[in-house]
Amino acid sequence: MAQVKEYIGKIKPDWCPGCGDFAVLNALQRALAELDIAPHTVQVVSGIGCSSNLPGFINAYGFHGLHGRSLPVATGVRLGNHGLTVIATGGDGDGYGIGVGHFVHTCRRNVNMTYIVMDNQVYGLTTGQASPTTEKDIRTKSTPEGTIETALSPVALALTCGATYVARGFSGDNLHLAQMIRGAIEHKGFALVDVFSPCVTYNKHNTYPWFRERVYKLEDEKHDISDFRLAIEKAFEWGARIPLGLFYKVERPTYEDEEPALRSGIPLAKQPLKRTDLAAIMEDFI
Ligand code: SF4
Ligand code: MG
Repeated sequence: MAQVKEYIGKIKPDWCPGCGDFAVLNALQRALAELDIAPHTVQVVSGIGCSSNLPGFINAYGFHGLHGRSLPVATGVRLGNHGLTVIATGGDGDGYGIGVGHFVHTCRRNVNMTYIVMDNQVYGLTTGQASPTTEKDIRTKSTPEGTIETALSPVALALTCGATYVARGFSGDNLHLAQMIRGAIEHKGFALVDVFSPCVTYNKHNTYPWFRERVYKLEDEKHDISDFRLAIEKAFEWGARIPLGLFYKVERPTYEDEEPALRSGIPLAKQPLKRTDLAAIMEDFI
């Protein structure tokens, strides 16, 4: 097994002290070490936001993209070289707001990658506006009289769009979170790990104590991860009890399995070029 320190980047995170994202970074490093995946075979891709700075803090290939665009970039990486372990990271505003269209289609394509969303129910980097997962009636900088919209359920959305591994973790339980991320990386298909990752600076409602009073683990209640309808039911459980853990897992062919150009199993990046006459190729496109 590799050591966690092998995945620690040269730049120290500049997140606020106590930010939940520290635990997510550590859990990802722990999962990669446990799986013994060499840093030079890992590509981490993000969009924009506090949590989207994560690729800068891990020893692996990194790509810090545009707001909401981590998943199309990550898909491109996978199709270009599906020998890499591809992990997209970001926040709830980035992934479930600006990038939600990409989220829907990446789920249904079942691209073999892991998507870790540090869900703090607020836009942190822009100093505390309501995000798609902010609960109704919560006052934020952009909703001084309370949020009018109903919060989106990322777990339910992922399930209905076709994601094949759907889990939820909590920054207050690092070992369990690492277990969820490890399972996601091992899974062959699109895996979402939604993480309750408190923003200690701008969200004074969904705090560590608030979550600790409510969260419980599905695995402690003998949850059946093959039962789609039960997973949907659990996805909407919110209030006095909120589930963590693996909601649903199913095997089905990945996008890479079905794409004719990738069926040989050899990554495109390693296949010999069949046509090298660039002028003729350009002619074909015109
Ligand atoms: Fe974390 Fe919130 Fe600080 Fe951003 S503003 S680093 S999300 S605590
Ligand atoms: Mg956020």
